[in-house]
Amino acid sequence: MVSPAHRRFRRGWTALILALCASAHALEYKDAWSPRNAERPIRDRTYYIILHTTEAPKESALNKLRSAGETHFLVDTAGKIYRIMDQRRVALHCGRSMWKGLADIDQYSVGVEVVGRYNSDITSAQYAAIKELLLELQRTFHIPDNRVLTHSMVAYGAPNRWHLRSHRGRKRCGMLFATTAARRKLGLAGKPACDPDVDAGRLVVADPYLARVLYGVSAKQQEDAVTRFAGEANNVISRNRSAWDIARDRYASAETVYILPDGARKRGSEIRDWGRVPIGTRVALGKGTREDEDSEEPVKEVGADGKSAGDLVGDEARNENTIYILPDGKIKRGSELTPGRIAAMPAGTRALVGYTIGGQVTARRSAFDICGIRWKLPSTYCLMPCGKLVKGDKMDESAIPKNAVIFLRE
Ligand SMILES: [Zn+2]
Repeated sequence: MVSPAHRRFRRGWTALILALCASAHALEYKDAWSPRNAERPIRDRTYYIILHTTEAPKESALNKLRSAGETHFLVDTAGKIYRIMDQRRVALHCGRSMWKGLADIDQYSVGVEVVGRYNSDITSAQYAAIKELLLELQRTFHIPDNRVLTHSMVAYGAPNRWHLRSHRGRKRCGMLFATTAARRKLGLAGKPACDPDVDAGRLVVADPYLARVLYGVSAKQQEDAVTRFAGEANNVISRNRSAWDIARDRYASAETVYILPDGARKRGSEIRDWGRVPIGTRVALGKGTREDEDSEEPVKEVGADGKSAGDLVGDEARNENTIYILPDGKIKRGSELTPGRIAAMPAGTRALVGYTIGGQVTARRSAFDICGIRWKLPSTYCLMPCGKLVKGDKMDESAIPKNAVIFLRE
């Protein structure tokens, strides 16, 4: 028989011993601070932790992530944790993203990059290190297990010729960390049971196999879906496998090269008629491009080389989130324009793809009033009254003149 007092006493000791153990096991970091830290705002709120896979070896991944400030942490195959961005600041790791109707998840999340591939298992040293890191971050930011997500869960793509609506499936990044097996090893008990934005009709599913990995009802169903990806090692276009299936949002990039069955080579940016790319065409993804990256330069300019706005923007030309800035300073949304109007856009017209109009700066309304800390992100653009488009990280808020217009990534 143990008395209540005795039990309390014992519980007290247990707590003390646990606390001592925890401090003995304090996380060890290697510092690889990004030079971007100083220019990035501190987040207002932190709701999520987003897990990524680098799809590239450690050294090249680390260099790139550091120089562009694209993650807070990197975990290498030996389980070493690198600190890259201050965990309170904004890192650019999600690109076009949404969760529960909230867009631009970089504003609300901590990013953890894991050296590895989206569909192959990581080392036990990595599992152990990520588990510790998650515990620490979840405690710091009060994040429950079901808000530890993967990049593939939150990324989404804009409409294109294969998917007429905004869709999930733009990235498979970090996919493995949604499986029951991996989450168990990471000590995560809960996970989202379904995709909230698909359920609400905001997005559609473009990659049913990915959806099965992320939200499969059984571990077996998830495993089968992961295994299917292994058969996709050869990047050849077939009846069931489109250029989008292989290259995702990089399909029209100049870095993506299409090797036709007759040996001819074409860059993604040179292809106009996607319906005529023959079956059997091999797709070479650009070197050094990570599955993780947003390939597209958002600002496109109608030039004197005869390329129309429609040629430059492609399937997104009449999208509400394609914004045109005409040479006379007028601003139009793609959804307001006819195909004829878009085809006739004059040289010098600029198109911003995947953007919304934040608003105009006035004497009483600063850039901060319009969009909070987002005004100084590199993904934000400011149209100066002189016609220059300046990225947020190149601006000084006090120097943004009246009548400047702010554009925000959707
Ligand atoms: Zn990623």
